[in-house]
Amino acid sequence: MRNRARDLLSNDYESGDASWVTGHFGNLNAQIGAYETYDDALFGVKAGWSLSLLLRNEEETAELRRALGGIQKIEDALPYEHHKRVRDDIPVGVYQVIADFGQARGTNTATILPNDALYSRRYGRTILLRENIMTHPEIFENARRSWEAVVAGELDDDLQADGDFYRTLWHEIGHYLGVDRDRQGRDLDAALEGWADALEEMKSDLLSLFAIQALHDDGQIDDARLLSVRASGIRRTLQNNRPRTDQPYQTMQLAQFNWFLENGLLEFDDQRGELIIHYDRYQDVVTKLLAEVLAIQYQGEPERARDFFERWTAWSPKLHDVIAEKIRAAQGPRFRLVRYAALGE
Ligand SMILES: [Zn+2]
Repeated sequence: MRNRARDLLSNDYESGDASWVTGHFGNLNAQIGAYETYDDALFGVKAGWSLSLLLRNEEETAELRRALGGIQKIEDALPYEHHKRVRDDIPVGVYQVIADFGQARGTNTATILPNDALYSRRYGRTILLRENIMTHPEIFENARRSWEAVVAGELDDDLQADGDFYRTLWHEIGHYLGVDRDRQGRDLDAALEGWADALEEMKSDLLSLFAIQALHDDGQIDDARLLSVRASGIRRTLQNNRPRTDQPYQTMQLAQFNWFLENGLLEFDDQRGELIIHYDRYQDVVTKLLAEVLAIQYQGEPERARDFFERWTAWSPKLHDVIAEKIRAAQGPRFRLVRYAALGE
């Protein structure tokens, strides 16, 4: 707290980030600072002040840290050549959000911080999973409604709340794995310019799906959980509106959706207006796209990234608009006010 207080005065976050990421705390943790730039639609550089007060779920956290023991094996199995050593003591925690303030007041499910490439290389990054938000019944109910509106009836029950939780968890861990510098040794942000975020987020999405399969093959997760994570991976790619290119998340989700469709993992039944999933193609199609993304990151050429996104973000009225309309009709409220009992709200 002393380091962070000094950071705020000096506008240099290094000492606070270093002690936050590498420190060991009791059952409380706090995210304090100006980290996320989501609200700066103009340049994506201006961060908003935020504070989250977090209570750790000790049991779930211990279970997670055990699962991370096999993380090097997953890195070594990734479809690219320049494997690296990864630390297996990633500071990850499952938390109940007690209260949050400023930019953090929302329904953010998980964070990996700090974002600064230099600090993350020096000290690592801490992963905060917000369990009471990820598994909130009202939020999951929204997701389930749009899922059921889009997929064929027999797939309705494939989506379960734990699917989102584990997919998100391995998405965050995915940021630790794979390519982190291009072939010239540059940071990906510098090399890939405006495409860096979309590629990095897509890598982590796919890495999560790839890792879950590896954990399943290893006997660490059962068939039911594999299925719900896979369903969550598909739900993630469904769009309720055509994304703009300045929306990295939605853009890379649409690219995944189109890739899945063209490679036979997804199929759209025009007659019934329903989406069908061919689960037997899942791992192949995901791995192929992951290999492509890792290759683009390693090459570090923004032109190649632009070509890729141009190729894979097509939007058709007969398909994408039909799905988007169904989601908009089913999804319910898109914004919500979050209140905390601890604050007497
Ligand atoms: Zn991410």
